[in-house]
Amino acid sequence: MLYYMNELTISNIILIISGELLFFFMMIFSIFSLKEKESKAASRALLLAIILPIPYLLIALIAFPFQKEAVLFLIILTALVLIVLFFPTKRFKVAEKESPEYKYDERDIVFSRRHLKTETERYDEYYSNHHDKKKPDDNFRSKPGLLSPESNMYNPFTFASASASFIAVSGFHDLVDGDVSDTKVESDPLKISNYIKNWSKKLGALNTGITELKEYHKYSHAGRRKSYGEPVILNHKFAIAFTVEMDKYQVGCAPAGPTVMESAQQYFESGAVAVQVAAFIRNLGYPARAHIDGNYQVLCPLIARDAGLGEIGRMGLLMTPNLGPRVRISVVTTDLPLVIDDRNYEHSTIDFCEKCRKCAVNCPPKAISFDSRKEINGVSRWKIDSEACYTYWCVAGTDCAKCMSVCPYSHPDNMLHNFVRAGIRNSSVFRKFAVMMDDFFYGKKPKSLEILEWMRIDNEK
Ligand code: SF4
Ligand code: SF4
Repeated sequence: MLYYMNELTISNIILIISGELLFFFMMIFSIFSLKEKESKAASRALLLAIILPIPYLLIALIAFPFQKEAVLFLIILTALVLIVLFFPTKRFKVAEKESPEYKYDERDIVFSRRHLKTETERYDEYYSNHHDKKKPDDNFRSKPGLLSPESNMYNPFTFASASASFIAVSGFHDLVDGDVSDTKVESDPLKISNYIKNWSKKLGALNTGITELKEYHKYSHAGRRKSYGEPVILNHKFAIAFTVEMDKYQVGCAPAGPTVMESAQQYFESGAVAVQVAAFIRNLGYPARAHIDGNYQVLCPLIARDAGLGEIGRMGLLMTPNLGPRVRISVVTTDLPLVIDDRNYEHSTIDFCEKCRKCAVNCPPKAISFDSRKEINGVSRWKIDSEACYTYWCVAGTDCAKCMSVCPYSHPDNMLHNFVRAGIRNSSVFRKFAVMMDDFFYGKKPKSLEILEWMRIDNEK
Protein backbone atom coordinates (compact mmCIF):
# COMPACT_ATOMS: atom_id res chain seq x y z
CA MET A 1 0.00 0.00 0.00
CA LEU A 2 1.43 3.41 -0.97
CA TYR A 3 1.71 6.24 1.54
CA TYR A 4 0.10 9.55 0.80
CA MET A 5 2.57 12.44 0.62
CA ASN A 6 1.39 13.91 3.94
CA GLU A 7 2.20 10.60 5.67
CA LEU A 8 5.84 10.64 4.62
CA THR A 9 8.29 11.13 7.46
CA ILE A 10 11.50 13.15 7.15
CA SER A 11 13.52 9.92 6.90
CA ASN A 12 11.35 8.62 4.06
CA ILE A 13 11.83 11.92 2.21
CA ILE A 14 15.62 11.73 2.73
CA LEU A 15 15.54 8.23 1.26
CA ILE A 16 13.51 9.34 -1.76
CA ILE A 17 15.89 12.27 -2.38
CA SER A 18 18.89 9.91 -2.10
CA GLY A 19 17.34 7.62 -4.70
CA GLU A 20 16.64 10.55 -7.00
CA LEU A 21 20.19 11.87 -6.59
CA LEU A 22 21.53 8.46 -7.54
CA PHE A 23 19.25 8.47 -10.56
CA PHE A 24 20.39 11.95 -11.66
CA PHE A 25 24.08 11.17 -11.09
CA MET A 26 23.92 7.99 -13.14
CA MET A 27 21.87 9.72 -15.86
CA ILE A 28 24.48 12.52 -16.07
CA PHE A 29 27.19 9.85 -16.27
CA SER A 30 25.27 8.11 -19.06
CA ILE A 31 24.82 11.35 -21.06
CA PHE A 32 28.48 12.32 -20.66
CA SER A 33 29.50 8.82 -21.76
CA LEU A 34 27.28 9.02 -24.83
CA LYS A 35 28.89 12.34 -25.76
CA GLU A 36 32.31 10.72 -25.25
CA LYS A 37 31.23 7.86 -27.57
CA GLU A 38 31.66 5.37 -24.70
CA SER A 39 28.57 3.27 -25.47
CA LYS A 40 29.35 0.55 -22.92
CA ALA A 41 29.71 3.08 -20.09
CA ALA A 42 26.58 4.89 -21.27
CA SER A 43 24.40 1.76 -21.26
CA ARG A 44 25.75 0.52 -17.92
CA ALA A 45 25.22 3.91 -16.30
CA LEU A 46 21.67 3.97 -17.67
CA LEU A 47 21.04 0.52 -16.23
CA LEU A 48 22.32 1.67 -12.83
CA ALA A 49 20.20 4.83 -13.08
CA ILE A 50 17.16 2.55 -13.27
CA ILE A 51 18.22 -0.14 -10.78
CA LEU A 52 19.95 1.79 -7.98
CA PRO A 53 17.05 4.04 -6.95
CA ILE A 54 14.56 1.11 -6.81
CA PRO A 55 15.33 -0.07 -3.22
CA TYR A 56 15.30 3.53 -2.01
CA LEU A 57 11.90 4.26 -3.51
CA LEU A 58 10.33 0.92 -2.59
CA ILE A 59 11.46 1.09 1.03
CA ALA A 60 10.40 4.73 1.33
CA LEU A 61 7.02 4.41 -0.34
CA ILE A 62 5.65 0.94 0.39
CA ALA A 63 4.46 0.17 3.89
CA PHE A 64 5.64 -3.11 5.45
CA PRO A 65 6.52 -4.36 8.92
CA PHE A 66 9.74 -2.76 10.26
CA GLN A 67 9.66 -0.21 7.45
CA LYS A 68 10.87 2.55 9.78
CA GLU A 69 13.93 0.45 10.73
CA ALA A 70 14.62 -0.42 7.10
CA VAL A 71 14.47 3.26 6.13
CA LEU A 72 16.94 4.18 8.88
CA PHE A 73 19.20 1.27 7.97
CA LEU A 74 19.42 2.33 4.32
CA ILE A 75 20.08 5.97 5.24
CA ILE A 76 22.88 4.98 7.64
CA LEU A 77 24.31 2.51 5.13
CA THR A 78 24.36 5.18 2.38
CA ALA A 79 25.98 7.72 4.71
CA LEU A 80 28.60 5.17 5.79
CA VAL A 81 29.47 4.28 2.19
CA LEU A 82 29.88 7.99 1.35
CA ILE A 83 32.03 8.60 4.44
CA VAL A 84 34.26 5.59 3.70
CA LEU A 85 34.64 6.62 0.05
CA PHE A 86 35.25 10.30 0.56
CA PHE A 87 36.91 10.55 3.99
CA PRO A 88 40.44 11.90 3.35
CA THR A 89 43.10 9.28 4.05
CA LYS A 90 46.63 9.88 5.23
CA ARG A 91 49.04 10.91 2.49
CA PHE A 92 52.19 8.85 2.17
CA LYS A 93 55.40 10.31 0.90
CA VAL A 94 56.48 9.76 -2.68
CA ALA A 95 59.74 7.75 -2.59
CA GLU A 96 62.84 9.82 -1.85
CA LYS A 97 64.94 7.87 -4.33
CA GLU A 98 62.97 9.01 -7.30
CA SER A 99 65.78 10.55 -9.36
CA PRO A 100 68.90 8.85 -10.71
CA GLU A 101 72.36 9.91 -9.63
CA TYR A 102 73.69 9.15 -13.09
CA LYS A 103 72.88 10.28 -16.61
CA TYR A 104 71.15 8.15 -19.22
CA ASP A 105 73.02 7.58 -22.45
CA GLU A 106 70.83 8.32 -25.48
CA ARG A 107 72.63 5.55 -27.39
CA ASP A 108 70.91 3.04 -25.07
CA ILE A 109 67.35 3.94 -25.96
CA VAL A 110 65.59 1.74 -28.52
CA PHE A 111 64.99 4.67 -30.90
CA SER A 112 68.77 5.06 -31.23
CA ARG A 113 69.49 1.33 -31.35
CA ARG A 114 67.01 0.75 -34.18
CA HIS A 115 69.31 2.75 -36.50
CA LEU A 116 72.36 0.54 -35.89
CA LYS A 117 73.17 -1.34 -39.07
CA THR A 118 74.97 -4.68 -39.22
CA GLU A 119 78.55 -4.68 -40.55
CA THR A 120 79.13 -1.10 -39.46
CA GLU A 121 81.70 0.09 -36.96
CA ARG A 122 78.97 1.64 -34.83
CA TYR A 123 77.04 -1.64 -34.66
CA ASP A 124 80.10 -3.71 -33.75
CA GLU A 125 81.23 -1.23 -31.14
CA TYR A 126 77.83 -0.94 -29.50
CA TYR A 127 77.13 -4.67 -29.25
CA SER A 128 80.64 -5.55 -28.13
CA ASN A 129 79.79 -3.52 -25.01
CA HIS A 130 76.12 -4.56 -24.82
CA HIS A 131 75.96 -8.29 -25.66
CA ASP A 132 72.61 -8.71 -23.93
CA LYS A 133 70.91 -6.20 -26.24
CA LYS A 134 72.01 -7.71 -29.56
CA LYS A 135 69.42 -10.50 -29.75
CA PRO A 136 66.31 -8.42 -28.90
CA ASP A 137 67.56 -5.57 -31.10
CA ASP A 138 68.21 -7.84 -34.10
CA ASN A 139 64.71 -9.17 -33.51
CA PHE A 140 62.96 -5.78 -33.66
CA ARG A 141 65.08 -4.69 -36.62
CA SER A 142 63.92 -7.81 -38.49
CA LYS A 143 60.27 -6.68 -38.18
CA PRO A 144 58.56 -4.39 -40.72
CA GLY A 145 59.05 -1.22 -38.62
CA LEU A 146 57.19 1.96 -37.75
CA LEU A 147 54.79 3.13 -40.52
CA SER A 148 55.86 0.23 -42.75
CA PRO A 149 53.44 -0.95 -45.51
CA GLU A 150 54.21 -4.52 -44.35
CA SER A 151 53.10 -3.88 -40.78
CA ASN A 152 49.91 -5.27 -39.22
CA MET A 153 48.08 -1.98 -38.81
CA TYR A 154 49.03 -0.58 -42.20
CA ASN A 155 46.60 1.95 -43.59
CA PRO A 156 47.95 4.07 -46.43
CA PHE A 157 46.07 7.19 -45.38
CA THR A 158 46.57 7.35 -41.64
CA PHE A 159 50.20 6.21 -42.04
CA ALA A 160 50.81 8.86 -44.71
CA SER A 161 49.33 11.50 -42.37
CA ALA A 162 51.56 10.39 -39.51
CA SER A 163 54.57 10.40 -41.79
CA ALA A 164 53.67 13.92 -42.99
CA SER A 165 53.55 15.18 -39.40
CA PHE A 166 56.91 13.53 -38.59
CA ILE A 167 58.39 15.18 -41.69
CA ALA A 168 57.03 18.54 -40.50
CA VAL A 169 58.55 18.01 -37.01
CA SER A 170 61.91 17.19 -38.57
CA GLY A 171 61.67 20.60 -40.27
CA PHE A 172 62.02 22.08 -36.77
CA HIS A 173 65.29 20.26 -36.07
CA ASP A 174 67.43 23.09 -37.48
CA LEU A 175 65.43 25.58 -35.41
CA VAL A 176 66.00 24.09 -31.97
CA ASP A 177 68.99 26.37 -31.41
CA GLY A 178 70.27 29.53 -33.04
CA ASP A 179 71.94 32.88 -32.70
CA VAL A 180 71.39 34.82 -29.53
CA SER A 181 70.61 38.53 -29.84
CA ASP A 182 73.48 40.84 -28.83
CA THR A 183 71.06 43.05 -26.95
CA LYS A 184 70.03 41.60 -23.62
CA VAL A 185 66.55 42.59 -22.45
CA GLU A 186 66.42 42.57 -18.64
CA SER A 187 63.17 41.41 -17.06
CA ASP A 188 61.68 40.46 -13.74
CA PRO A 189 62.02 36.62 -13.44
CA LEU A 190 58.52 36.24 -12.06
CA LYS A 191 56.93 38.34 -14.78
CA ILE A 192 58.80 36.72 -17.66
CA SER A 193 58.00 33.25 -16.26
CA ASN A 194 54.36 34.23 -16.18
CA TYR A 195 54.61 35.66 -19.71
CA ILE A 196 56.08 32.41 -21.05
CA LYS A 197 53.42 30.32 -19.33
CA ASN A 198 50.58 32.40 -20.72
CA TRP A 199 52.04 32.78 -24.20
CA SER A 200 52.87 29.08 -24.52
CA LYS A 201 49.24 28.30 -23.72
CA LYS A 202 48.18 30.63 -26.53
CA LEU A 203 50.58 28.73 -28.78
CA GLY A 204 48.84 25.47 -27.93
CA ALA A 205 50.37 24.17 -24.69
CA LEU A 206 48.03 22.59 -22.20
CA ASN A 207 50.32 23.26 -19.27
CA THR A 208 53.77 24.74 -18.70
CA GLY A 209 56.14 24.26 -15.76
CA ILE A 210 59.63 25.46 -14.92
CA THR A 211 62.38 23.68 -13.02
CA GLU A 212 66.09 23.92 -12.40
CA LEU A 213 68.00 21.86 -14.98
CA LYS A 214 69.64 18.97 -13.11
CA GLU A 215 72.41 16.60 -14.23
CA TYR A 216 70.06 13.58 -14.34
CA HIS A 217 67.77 15.47 -16.73
CA LYS A 218 70.48 15.39 -19.41
CA TYR A 219 71.68 12.58 -21.63
CA SER A 220 75.35 11.77 -21.14
CA HIS A 221 75.95 11.16 -24.87
CA ALA A 222 74.01 11.82 -28.04
CA GLY A 223 72.51 8.73 -29.65
CA ARG A 224 71.18 10.06 -32.94
CA ARG A 225 72.20 11.95 -36.03
CA LYS A 226 75.68 13.31 -36.75
CA SER A 227 76.55 13.91 -33.09
CA TYR A 228 76.16 10.17 -32.25
CA GLY A 229 78.51 9.28 -29.41
CA GLU A 230 79.47 12.85 -28.57
CA PRO A 231 79.11 13.95 -24.94
CA VAL A 232 76.09 16.18 -24.39
CA ILE A 233 77.26 19.63 -23.29
CA LEU A 234 74.29 21.53 -21.94
CA ASN A 235 74.98 24.08 -19.23
CA HIS A 236 71.68 25.89 -19.06
CA LYS A 237 70.27 26.69 -15.63
CA PHE A 238 66.56 26.23 -16.25
CA ALA A 239 64.21 23.91 -18.10
CA ILE A 240 60.68 24.76 -19.22
CA ALA A 241 58.37 21.82 -19.92
CA PHE A 242 55.25 22.04 -22.08
CA THR A 243 52.48 19.46 -22.36
CA VAL A 244 49.97 19.27 -25.22
CA GLU A 245 46.82 17.16 -25.22
CA MET A 246 46.36 14.13 -27.47
CA ASP A 247 42.89 13.59 -28.92
CA LYS A 248 40.95 11.15 -26.77
CA TYR A 249 39.11 9.44 -29.62
CA GLN A 250 42.16 8.88 -31.80
CA VAL A 251 44.10 7.52 -28.84
CA GLY A 252 41.11 5.24 -28.20
CA CYS A 253 41.73 3.64 -31.62
CA ALA A 254 45.06 2.29 -30.33
CA PRO A 255 47.01 0.48 -31.65
CA ALA A 256 45.59 1.37 -35.10
CA GLY A 257 46.66 4.16 -37.47
CA PRO A 258 44.66 7.08 -35.99
CA THR A 259 46.75 6.85 -32.83
CA VAL A 260 50.16 7.19 -34.47
CA MET A 261 48.64 9.94 -36.61
CA GLU A 262 47.71 11.82 -33.43
CA SER A 263 51.06 11.11 -31.74
CA ALA A 264 52.93 12.56 -34.71
CA GLN A 265 50.61 15.57 -34.85
CA GLN A 266 51.13 16.33 -31.16
CA TYR A 267 54.90 15.92 -31.50
CA PHE A 268 54.54 18.62 -34.12
CA GLU A 269 52.35 20.83 -31.90
CA SER A 270 54.60 20.50 -28.85
CA GLY A 271 57.66 21.01 -31.06
CA ALA A 272 56.16 24.20 -32.51
CA VAL A 273 55.60 25.60 -29.01
CA ALA A 274 59.15 24.76 -27.91
CA VAL A 275 60.98 26.16 -30.97
CA GLN A 276 58.99 29.41 -30.77
CA VAL A 277 59.61 29.87 -27.04
CA ALA A 278 63.33 29.08 -27.52
CA ALA A 279 63.57 31.62 -30.39
CA PHE A 280 61.73 34.19 -28.26
CA ILE A 281 64.22 33.77 -25.42
CA ARG A 282 67.19 34.04 -27.81
CA ASN A 283 65.62 37.25 -29.17
CA LEU A 284 65.77 38.59 -25.60
CA GLY A 285 69.52 37.96 -25.54
CA TYR A 286 69.71 34.64 -23.61
CA PRO A 287 70.73 31.21 -24.89
CA ALA A 288 67.88 28.72 -25.27
CA ARG A 289 67.50 25.30 -26.89
CA ALA A 290 64.31 23.44 -27.74
CA HIS A 291 64.14 19.68 -27.16
CA ILE A 292 61.61 18.11 -29.51
CA ASP A 293 60.81 14.78 -31.13
CA GLY A 294 63.93 13.24 -32.64
CA ASN A 295 66.17 15.98 -31.26
CA TYR A 296 66.50 15.74 -27.49
CA GLN A 297 69.41 16.33 -25.17
CA VAL A 298 67.23 15.82 -22.11
CA LEU A 299 64.65 13.40 -20.70
CA CYS A 300 61.40 15.31 -21.02
CA PRO A 301 59.24 13.25 -18.59
CA LEU A 302 61.66 13.78 -15.68
CA ILE A 303 61.84 17.51 -16.38
CA ALA A 304 58.04 17.77 -16.63
CA ARG A 305 57.69 15.86 -13.35
CA ASP A 306 60.17 18.12 -11.55
CA ALA A 307 58.44 21.18 -13.03
CA GLY A 308 55.25 20.16 -11.21
CA LEU A 309 53.32 18.80 -14.19
CA GLY A 310 52.72 15.25 -12.90
CA GLU A 311 54.20 11.98 -11.68
CA ILE A 312 55.78 9.07 -13.54
CA GLY A 313 53.31 6.18 -13.55
CA ARG A 314 53.44 2.43 -14.07
CA MET A 315 53.75 2.70 -17.86
CA GLY A 316 56.80 4.98 -17.48
CA LEU A 317 55.03 8.05 -18.87
CA LEU A 318 54.24 11.38 -17.25
CA MET A 319 50.85 11.16 -15.55
CA THR A 320 49.28 14.60 -15.57
CA PRO A 321 46.55 15.43 -13.03
CA ASN A 322 43.69 15.91 -15.51
CA LEU A 323 44.65 13.87 -18.59
CA GLY A 324 47.00 11.26 -17.18
CA PRO A 325 49.45 10.05 -19.85
CA ARG A 326 47.38 11.44 -22.77
CA VAL A 327 49.87 14.24 -23.50
CA ARG A 328 53.06 14.87 -25.43
CA ILE A 329 55.92 16.85 -23.91
CA SER A 330 58.55 19.22 -25.23
CA VAL A 331 61.16 21.21 -23.35
CA VAL A 332 63.20 24.40 -23.64
CA THR A 333 66.43 24.76 -21.66
CA THR A 334 67.78 28.24 -21.09
CA ASP A 335 69.81 30.68 -18.98
CA LEU A 336 67.04 33.27 -18.92
CA PRO A 337 66.45 33.95 -15.19
CA LEU A 338 63.12 32.33 -14.31
CA VAL A 339 61.13 31.41 -11.21
CA ILE A 340 60.90 27.66 -10.76
CA ASP A 341 57.72 25.76 -9.88
CA ASP A 342 57.42 23.42 -6.93
CA ARG A 343 57.69 19.72 -7.58
CA ASN A 344 54.08 18.59 -7.21
CA TYR A 345 54.42 15.40 -5.13
CA GLU A 346 51.20 13.56 -5.83
CA HIS A 347 51.20 10.36 -3.82
CA SER A 348 47.71 9.43 -5.03
CA THR A 349 48.90 8.89 -8.62
CA ILE A 350 51.56 6.42 -7.48
CA ASP A 351 49.10 4.69 -5.15
CA PHE A 352 46.47 4.50 -7.89
CA CYS A 353 49.02 2.89 -10.23
CA GLU A 354 49.84 0.38 -7.46
CA LYS A 355 46.17 -0.61 -7.33
CA CYS A 356 45.25 -0.33 -11.01
CA ARG A 357 47.52 -2.28 -13.43
CA LYS A 358 45.07 -1.77 -16.31
CA CYS A 359 47.89 -0.76 -18.67
CA ALA A 360 49.79 -3.96 -17.78
CA VAL A 361 46.69 -6.10 -18.37
CA ASN A 362 46.07 -4.52 -21.79
CA CYS A 363 49.63 -4.22 -23.10
CA PRO A 364 49.73 -6.59 -26.13
CA PRO A 365 53.32 -7.86 -25.59
CA LYS A 366 53.02 -7.67 -21.76
CA ALA A 367 55.84 -5.12 -21.58
CA ILE A 368 54.48 -3.37 -18.48
CA SER A 369 55.23 -4.69 -15.01
CA PHE A 370 52.46 -6.02 -12.76
CA ASP A 371 54.72 -5.64 -9.70
CA SER A 372 54.87 -2.88 -7.13
CA ARG A 373 57.22 0.02 -7.72
CA LYS A 374 60.69 -1.00 -6.67
CA GLU A 375 64.24 0.28 -6.57
CA ILE A 376 66.01 -0.19 -9.90
CA ASN A 377 69.57 1.16 -10.18
CA GLY A 378 68.97 3.27 -7.07
CA VAL A 379 65.69 4.75 -8.29
CA SER A 380 62.23 3.82 -7.06
CA ARG A 381 60.18 3.27 -10.22
CA TRP A 382 58.42 0.94 -12.59
CA LYS A 383 60.43 -0.20 -15.56
CA ILE A 384 58.82 -1.29 -18.79
CA ASP A 385 60.37 -3.88 -21.08
CA SER A 386 61.29 -1.37 -23.80
CA GLU A 387 62.51 -4.08 -26.22
CA ALA A 388 59.18 -5.95 -26.02
CA CYS A 389 57.25 -2.69 -26.43
CA TYR A 390 59.31 -1.52 -29.39
CA THR A 391 59.20 -4.92 -31.08
CA TYR A 392 55.42 -4.70 -30.94
CA TRP A 393 55.57 -1.22 -32.53
CA CYS A 394 57.70 -2.62 -35.36
CA VAL A 395 55.15 -5.37 -35.97
CA ALA A 396 52.09 -3.10 -35.66
CA GLY A 397 53.69 -0.22 -37.58
CA THR A 398 52.32 2.28 -35.04
CA ASP A 399 53.45 3.52 -31.65
CA CYS A 400 50.66 1.38 -30.13
CA ALA A 401 49.59 3.50 -27.10
CA LYS A 402 47.12 0.85 -25.93
CA CYS A 403 48.37 1.52 -22.39
CA MET A 404 47.61 5.21 -22.75
CA SER A 405 44.17 4.58 -24.21
CA VAL A 406 42.96 2.33 -21.38
CA CYS A 407 44.45 4.33 -18.49
CA PRO A 408 41.65 5.53 -16.17
CA TYR A 409 43.46 8.88 -15.90
CA SER A 410 43.10 9.40 -19.66
CA HIS A 411 39.38 10.20 -19.53
CA PRO A 412 38.46 13.69 -20.73
CA ASP A 413 39.12 16.73 -18.59
CA ASN A 414 35.50 17.50 -17.68
CA MET A 415 33.33 17.97 -14.59
CA LEU A 416 32.37 14.30 -14.30
CA HIS A 417 35.85 12.81 -14.56
CA ASN A 418 37.36 15.60 -12.47
CA PHE A 419 34.92 14.68 -9.70
CA VAL A 420 36.31 11.13 -9.85
CA ARG A 421 39.87 12.48 -9.99
CA ALA A 422 39.19 14.56 -6.86
CA GLY A 423 38.05 11.41 -5.07
CA ILE A 424 41.17 9.58 -6.27
CA ARG A 425 43.39 12.34 -4.85
CA ASN A 426 41.52 12.34 -1.57
CA SER A 427 41.01 8.78 -0.45
CA SER A 428 42.77 5.45 -0.73
CA VAL A 429 39.44 3.59 -0.48
CA PHE A 430 38.05 5.71 -3.30
CA ARG A 431 41.09 4.76 -5.42
CA LYS A 432 40.24 1.05 -5.02
CA PHE A 433 36.60 1.81 -5.80
CA ALA A 434 37.56 3.89 -8.86
CA VAL A 435 39.65 1.01 -10.29
CA MET A 436 36.67 -1.36 -9.94
CA MET A 437 34.23 1.18 -11.38
CA ASP A 438 36.51 1.90 -14.35
CA ASP A 439 36.57 -1.82 -15.14
CA PHE A 440 32.79 -2.03 -14.70
CA PHE A 441 31.93 0.94 -16.93
CA TYR A 442 34.63 0.73 -19.60
CA GLY A 443 35.65 -2.93 -19.37
CA LYS A 444 38.79 -4.54 -17.96
CA LYS A 445 40.00 -4.91 -21.52
CA PRO A 446 38.31 -2.07 -23.43
CA LYS A 447 37.87 -2.63 -27.14
CA SER A 448 39.69 -0.29 -29.50
CA LEU A 449 37.45 2.39 -30.98
CA GLU A 450 36.50 2.25 -34.65
CA ILE A 451 38.53 4.33 -37.07
CA LEU A 452 36.60 7.58 -37.71
CA GLU A 453 34.25 7.66 -40.71
CA TRP A 454 36.16 10.41 -42.53
CA MET A 455 39.38 8.40 -42.26
CA ARG A 456 37.84 5.41 -44.01
CA ILE A 457 38.81 5.49 -47.67
CA ASP A 458 38.62 2.52 -49.97
CA ASN A 459 42.01 2.72 -51.65
CA GLU A 460 41.21 -0.16 -54.00
CA LYS A 461 39.01 2.05 -56.18
S1 SF4 B 1 46.57 2.26 -16.45
FE1 SF4 B 1 46.49 2.28 -14.24
S2 SF4 B 1 48.45 1.42 -13.60
FE2 SF4 B 1 48.66 2.02 -15.73
S3 SF4 B 1 49.50 4.10 -15.67
FE3 SF4 B 1 47.26 4.28 -15.80
S4 SF4 B 1 46.60 4.44 -13.67
FE4 SF4 B 1 48.68 3.66 -13.64
S1 SF4 C 1 52.85 1.29 -26.12
FE1 SF4 C 1 51.78 -0.69 -26.38
S2 SF4 C 1 53.41 -2.21 -26.34
FE2 SF4 C 1 54.26 -0.34 -25.46
S3 SF4 C 1 53.95 -0.49 -23.26
FE3 SF4 C 1 52.17 0.61 -24.09
S4 SF4 C 1 50.66 -0.99 -24.48
FE4 SF4 C 1 52.62 -2.00 -24.25
